[in-house]
Amino acid sequence: MIYLTAVNVIISRMGKKVMIESKLIEILDRFKGMIGESHVLSEPSELASYGDWTHLPSRPSAIVFPASTEEVSAILAYCSQNHIKVVPSGGRTGLAGGAVATDGEVILSLSRMNRIGVIDPIGLSVELEAGVITQHLQEVASEAGLFFPIDLAAKGSSQIGGNIATNAGGLKFIRYGSMRDQVLGLEVVLSSGQVLDMNYSLAKNNTGYDLKQLFIGSEGTLGIITRATLKLAPKPKGFRLALIGVNHFDDIPRLLEEANKHQLPVSAFEFFTGEALSIVLKQYQQIHPPLETEAPFLALVEIEAQESEECHFDVYLERVFEKNLAVDGMLASSSQEFDRIWSLRENISESLQSYGYLHKNDISLPIKELSQFMRYLEEIKISADPVTLVSFGHVGDGNIHLNYAAKKEDIGAEEFHSKVKYIEEKVFLLIQKFRGSISAEHGIGLLKREDLTYTRSELEVQYMRQIKNIFDKNFILNPGKIFTEKMI
Ligand code: FAD
Repeated sequence: MIYLTAVNVIISRMGKKVMIESKLIEILDRFKGMIGESHVLSEPSELASYGDWTHLPSRPSAIVFPASTEEVSAILAYCSQNHIKVVPSGGRTGLAGGAVATDGEVILSLSRMNRIGVIDPIGLSVELEAGVITQHLQEVASEAGLFFPIDLAAKGSSQIGGNIATNAGGLKFIRYGSMRDQVLGLEVVLSSGQVLDMNYSLAKNNTGYDLKQLFIGSEGTLGIITRATLKLAPKPKGFRLALIGVNHFDDIPRLLEEANKHQLPVSAFEFFTGEALSIVLKQYQQIHPPLETEAPFLALVEIEAQESEECHFDVYLERVFEKNLAVDGMLASSSQEFDRIWSLRENISESLQSYGYLHKNDISLPIKELSQFMRYLEEIKISADPVTLVSFGHVGDGNIHLNYAAKKEDIGAEEFHSKVKYIEEKVFLLIQKFRGSISAEHGIGLLKREDLTYTRSELEVQYMRQIKNIFDKNFILNPGKIFTEKMI
């Protein structure tokens, strides 16, 4: 089956009586002429699987793989003139449906634009194309004795352009910030095909508005990111890692407070519930329980190791036991143990897929409000049965991944979705009360657009819509993401 909605729009707007299929063939021929025949996919079997990690159905009319900024520009200029809608696509690990084509759009993949320039070892920066895989940049930086700190479980597939478009956070946010903090410069192709060159490598540049910031976290709705200049950091000498079991959630922020008192260079501060751990252990039976004493909550504390910090870390761990903050704990004593502890945390998302039904929230709150929020959540959980609420996440940043999960034998699809909607509303109202965010790092995409105004004011959304109108007045770029068309 060929999806022709985008093409339909063109035809009705142009008012021409043309055969739909011949129009599609004409469009595909134009793309092939611009970037080469083998870089345009249009077979239904090739199109059907081209979604993202949400597994929402994706229905593109074609997928194009340009190899340069000039090719992206030519495609967008043509699409703009012909009102063809375009969905930018990176590594397709997004969790908000941002890279999904819902309505016969053309998907523009950056996969072929994957070149990394020469690293500047003095300015500590690198210029690269947007299709570079995150882990590849980490490896290239490491070979040069440097460090690229954006680190997420999806790094083997996610792309730098996707990381920028979603303003990815990840595991080392607590020390290095998000993708926004790494970006020195950007090159963006606008929906008109114009190339907006903001790709400076300057650390300081106060000359009017910093337009590049608008594109970071814009989820492909304002322009296509084609190149970037990113900061690199000095490579840490190593890391030390402890897993600490606690009896009450309240003890988790206290562990962080204690780490701050000891002036530890904390590079990751994660948490997961005992329930999340047991789901991973059930899924990966070769992994043994990490602690002798079962604990309802676990904190994973990683620091950047330097000789003096190593002593501080030992003192810190002694102190958390003296203060009865911990019921059990372990310190990674080898690289295998280090990887094993991390794998417990990193395998949670994958393990949760074993439930028949799964719905995800990615929320953030001021850290000082987390304990109270978790107490309210315990109350909400009681009314959720048989839906289980499993939480884990980047707690050191106030960011919790809240998963609503249920087995198919316990509940029907319709009941699951209406129950989730009911509980989610309670959760979002609570987040609103604490001035938190309904999407900390995954973005809005398709999945959260109806919820945007829980934690963004009407006035903020009104200005966002005006910005969308400035950069994409024909509404061809990732339509239906962040805003529904009628909101524009
Ligand atoms: P895609 O999924 O392809 O696209 C995401 C959005 O960006 C879409 O709206 C798309 O249109 C747009 N886009 C992509 N490339 C471009 C471009 N070049 N120009 C303009 N727009 C573009 N996220 C975190 O922040 N922190 C985490 O810790 C984290 N952990 C994850 C763990 C797992 C197991 C998985 C599956 C996902 C995780 N994510 C996390 C979510 C996801 O990996 C990030 O959002 C990532 O940045 C998406 O990159 P991508 O290249 O896969 O983008």
